[in-house]
Amino acid sequence: MTALTLDRALDLRGRGAALQVDASAIAANSRLFAERSGGALMAVVKADGFGHGAALVARTALRHGASWLGVTSLDEAVALRLAGIEAPVLSWLNPVASDFRAAVLHHVDVAVPGPAHLAAVAGAARTTGRPARVHLHLDVGLARDGAAPADWARLCHAARRAEREGTVRVVGVMGHLARGDEPGHEANRAARDRFAWGIGVARRHGLRPPLRHLAATAATLTDPLSRHTLCRVGAGLVGIDPSGTTPLRPALTLTAPVVSVRDVVAGTPVGYGHTWATARGTRLALLPLGYADGLPRTASGRAEVLVRGRRCAVVGRISMDQVVVDVGSAPVVAGEIATVFGPGSEGEPTVAEWAGWSGTIEHEIVTGIGARVRR
Ligand SMILES: *Cc1c(COP(=O)(O)O)cnc(C)c1O
Repeated sequence: MTALTLDRALDLRGRGAALQVDASAIAANSRLFAERSGGALMAVVKADGFGHGAALVARTALRHGASWLGVTSLDEAVALRLAGIEAPVLSWLNPVASDFRAAVLHHVDVAVPGPAHLAAVAGAARTTGRPARVHLHLDVGLARDGAAPADWARLCHAARRAEREGTVRVVGVMGHLARGDEPGHEANRAARDRFAWGIGVARRHGLRPPLRHLAATAATLTDPLSRHTLCRVGAGLVGIDPSGTTPLRPALTLTAPVVSVRDVVAGTPVGYGHTWATARGTRLALLPLGYADGLPRTASGRAEVLVRGRRCAVVGRISMDQVVVDVGSAPVVAGEIATVFGPGSEGEPTVAEWAGWSGTIEHEIVTGIGARVRR
């Protein structure tokens, strides 16, 4: 056997849990959002591309209609640069003491939520001899990141002064919706109005930001008035639609090999705390992944996986490293591959089902897959 064939033979069955990413699904979703954005599309690849691999999602989206990338931290942005990706990148959430010199040197745009950040960014730019490219961030109703409306005029004034000094260029104004996943909600109209007001204030201070961006996935799909010149889309690219309006293609499949099977009699308690016991004689299969690998412990007692084309219950408590599956009378043997979740096309559970079983949203499932799972 050549090393390559041996590696293949050992591949799925010989190792632990594995995560596969369907780049064609990300490509299809990217094309849909590029079309819906009505302007430019920013692929948001924070949190390792929502657990799908930041560089993979970035490259795929850039080939299929996106022209911008967005991440949370400067470290994430620099990692894209070190991976050889040259498209425009915006980083929007950084401590005031961050290394903003790195942003300028790596051509990374940064969002600025207030005068202290602006001063830090301008100061760093001064030492490089090049202006920093900034997007002023207005809080339009989350009370989270971004400048409060009461501080906005002061921020615009300081930004204009820094432009005159040549230390920054204000290329964008951004906001983020609190209730974008509730199309038509009154809070969205209020947020849009506040954003429009913020742009007006910026203009009155002499700023001419060519980029104005408010919409993320849900609003891009449901609210044309929030699209402005650019849409920042993350969840949608990997097949998650918080608005529940548009069929998208999920891109992740999580599999695990059966490590062992055992035949047990009726009344056999299973797992920590004996929270469940067999009602009949059955076969139990052991899978080598648990909550440390991203299966929420709160899905215990509800979750299912696909084994031999059939849905089987995950029984007893989900442990840190392993789960037990009741495969009934199916002649399942060690080494078979179980599908924990996937797009659903073969009957396997979806990420949306796992989110429902554990009382959370799909985002938390896909970003929570542990480092031990092979990509
Ligand atoms: C995560 C994030 C996005 C992307 O949101 P999705 O709903 O995943 O498209 C856009 N903007 C900001 C500020 C974010 O934090």
